[in-house]
Amino acid sequence: MSNYDFIIVGAGSAGCVLANRLSKDSSNKVLLVEAGGTDRRFYIHMPIGYGKTYHQKSINWMYTTEPSPDAGNRRSYWPRGKVLGGSSSINAMVYVRGNRKDFDNWSAAGNSGWSYAELLPYFKRMESWQNGGNDYRGGEGPLNVSDVSNQLHPLCKNFIAAGQELGFNFNPDMNGAEQEGVGNYQITTHLGRRMSCSRAYLRPVMNRKNLTVITKAQVTRVLFEDNQAIGIEFNKNKKIHQVKASREVILTAGAVNSPQLLQLSGIGPESVLKEANIPILHHSPEVGRNLQDHLGVSYFYKSKVPTLNDQLRPWWGKLLQGARYILTRTGPLSLSVNQSGGFVRTRDNLKTPNIQLYFSPVSYSHESPGRRVMLKPDSFSAVLLGVSNCKSNSRGQIRIKNNNPLESPIIEPNYLSHQDDVQDLLEGVKLLRKLAQTKSFSKVIYDEFRPGPNCKSDAELIEDIKENAWTVFHPSSTCRMGLDPLKNVVDSSLKVHGIKGLRIADASIFPELVSGNINAATIMVGEKASDLILEDIKS
Ligand SMILES: Cc1cc2nc3c(=O)[nH]c(=O)nc-3n(C[C@H](O)[C@H](O)[C@H](O)COP(=O)(O)OP(=O)(O)OC[C@H]3O[C@@H](n4cnc5c(N)ncnc54)[C@H](O)[C@@H]3O)c2cc1C
Repeated sequence: MSNYDFIIVGAGSAGCVLANRLSKDSSNKVLLVEAGGTDRRFYIHMPIGYGKTYHQKSINWMYTTEPSPDAGNRRSYWPRGKVLGGSSSINAMVYVRGNRKDFDNWSAAGNSGWSYAELLPYFKRMESWQNGGNDYRGGEGPLNVSDVSNQLHPLCKNFIAAGQELGFNFNPDMNGAEQEGVGNYQITTHLGRRMSCSRAYLRPVMNRKNLTVITKAQVTRVLFEDNQAIGIEFNKNKKIHQVKASREVILTAGAVNSPQLLQLSGIGPESVLKEANIPILHHSPEVGRNLQDHLGVSYFYKSKVPTLNDQLRPWWGKLLQGARYILTRTGPLSLSVNQSGGFVRTRDNLKTPNIQLYFSPVSYSHESPGRRVMLKPDSFSAVLLGVSNCKSNSRGQIRIKNNNPLESPIIEPNYLSHQDDVQDLLEGVKLLRKLAQTKSFSKVIYDEFRPGPNCKSDAELIEDIKENAWTVFHPSSTCRMGLDPLKNVVDSSLKVHGIKGLRIADASIFPELVSGNINAATIMVGEKASDLILEDIKS
């Protein structure tokens, strides 16, 4: 059996960070095991290629959830990256840290070391913000963050002006001193190519002699001696292999697979383990519970001026933009479709924004909900205005079906099961209409063709939300961090309660969802975890 100091399970957003930071000291022997394969694929690196990778089985787990009773009893499609870089290789690249209050809440819940002031140094050290470092931004980190304001569609200016007309501030940097306001989204790209965590953290160090990366290897369980993790078992080429970790095993398999692996290894709610015929190593009732996600709703409008639909729909447009991208790495194919947006409050008595806004100068309204076939937009000029909730009060869960590690776990998101989530989205969609009716917007967009003027009363709007709201792909909190072992899975050092030699460091540890897209906060978790682990071996 091969022996390593550290074994990292999953080369996603956080796993790549840990592989880099832990192997920096050549005396640490590090193994990174990833279920997916190489990320050397054109559609990963071309930013808008995520319309394609969204359904690409070779690099995507392509999960389907159970129906959500309060969201039209619909199942949801959950793409998750199964490739070097994990979901950072297939995401929409919008770069948002979250609201400082989110992290202060994490800390106030008893997680010492996790306040915004304590995490700011990690947010700074991870990024290379195109406009340089300052009190809030980092200028020298591995992850390039681009300011693409001057490349965005001209209608983004109308969106921002519309927001200002409604009294929201223009915010030139939603990752700076304040998150609130409307502005342009920053994206994780560099010179027109996706900046995944593989590209930022892993690829540059893959030749380190003390770092081994094994791909196409699905970890099936963690190995234990009593309550001490001593290694892992994985399936590669249909053969089972075992490797040992003399110091620690770190799960970075993401919010779906980290709780799945814990349960397969005998750590989880007794009832779930018994039903799946898994011998109980440690009863940890919250493994897989507290599942939270952001849910979005889109409204579509025709446009009096050409939009990306006109550039990307016709064959000659695709050819032209494709050639432009290949020759210059610029144009719409080098960007995300989520170009502008913001964080706003729909009620005055709120302390922080409850709604995230999106403006995309493109529409793909005739696809079934949740599809992202960006290279097949509608055949007329149109745009999309979207909202998602900043927090989720609904709680779902993830649990294994049986003891077969290669079978997908059961995912029950329970979307909209809390009335406050419905209320936030209701106020959010009303706000979209107000934005569309401002002077700045109504001179360029008209004719709301989804959901359309017949959807008017609160009851109709709510019905539409329940029938059409869709995940914005931010599952989190299924191995929640916190003090009480009966209510949480890891402690504030990310060690699994009741177990030695096992940590979790990915989006599953969030005590509560952050406001906005969660890749940045997940990378921050990877950075912070690496310090916690390295400090422990010093002492
Ligand atoms: C379509 C889409 C769009 C998104 N858009 C945005 C956006 O615009 N901005 C943003 O901030 N966030 C976005 N996100 C969310 C963000 O990318 C993820 O939340 C983040 O990448 C999660 O990081 P992670 O480290 O927790 O997990 P992941 O990055 O998913 O990594 C987990 C890794 O572990 C591997 N793995 C899992 N199980 C095993 C196993 N048993 N053995 C070995 N390996 C295993 C997986 O294959 C994967 O590589 C999006 C996500 C998706 C799917």
